[in-house]
Amino acid sequence: MVIPMEVYEGKAKKVIPLDDDKVILEFKDDATAFDGKKKAQFKGKGWLNAQISALLFKVLEESGVKTHFIGVAGDNRLIVERLRMYPLEVVVRNVVAGSLKKRLPLEEGTELPEPIVELYYKDDGLGDPMINRYHAKVLGIGEDEVREMERIALKVNEVLRKYFAERGIILVDFKLEFGRNKRGEIVLGDEISPDTCRFWDAETRESLDKDVFRFDKGDLISAYERLYERLTGETPNRR
Ligand code: ADP
Ligand code: UDP
Repeated sequence: MVIPMEVYEGKAKKVIPLDDDKVILEFKDDATAFDGKKKAQFKGKGWLNAQISALLFKVLEESGVKTHFIGVAGDNRLIVERLRMYPLEVVVRNVVAGSLKKRLPLEEGTELPEPIVELYYKDDGLGDPMINRYHAKVLGIGEDEVREMERIALKVNEVLRKYFAERGIILVDFKLEFGRNKRGEIVLGDEISPDTCRFWDAETRESLDKDVFRFDKGDLISAYERLYERLTGETPNRR
């Protein structure tokens, strides 16, 4: 939960400090899957993820969800509010896919009667294990904080599920990260992009997300570009 004063380079992004209140998130073209065991680079992925995240953060802000988004700062960079990040991944699921198949006896593609929220502890060494509120408390994250993150995550789901449905896309599941700002508020951070969500074409059930890379389902950039076009009505115009 340390606020970086130096550039931090993660797997998908760089965090570049600007001042006490703001950092730049620079989206890289690197892709990783299966705990970093599978790696590749896709020219243009950083641009697409930065633009799609910016768009979705704007949609959320318009619906009253507080996010870290401040603005776009060039091709693959966002300016965001500096947060003290919780070492948690908050996953919301609407449809059975991915690791949920190992947890419940349900087939891929089954719509859940209501959304499921899961917590994972962000720790590469431990392989990001799933945890519950009791584990979170031991990590110094109180029940009220977890409850607030879950509440915001469900609100994000409500807003984005509808937004994507209106564009012929099923929001299958996604991962969020939260942090605290200077005023102590819990704020939605990180990214919301095809790297961190599962999006299926509602008609064909084709993946428009990182599963294309995980399971060699085709060309990642063209899938991300199709998603971008569906959201903006524009052909991507990246340099
Ligand atoms: P990882 O660290 O898992 O490899 P990334 O490559 O996406 O992931 O790195 C981005 C890092 O930036 C993550 O550790 C994330 O928690 C952090 N982060 C996201 N939003 C903010 C923010 N607003 N302020 C500070 N750090 C942030
Ligand atoms: N996810 C993510 N980062 C992670 C793990 C999962 O962004 O480190 C996203 C993933 O893209 C999917 C959702 O969270 O949209 C649920 O992922 P799941 O638990 O099914 O794990 P997976 O099998 O995809 O690793």
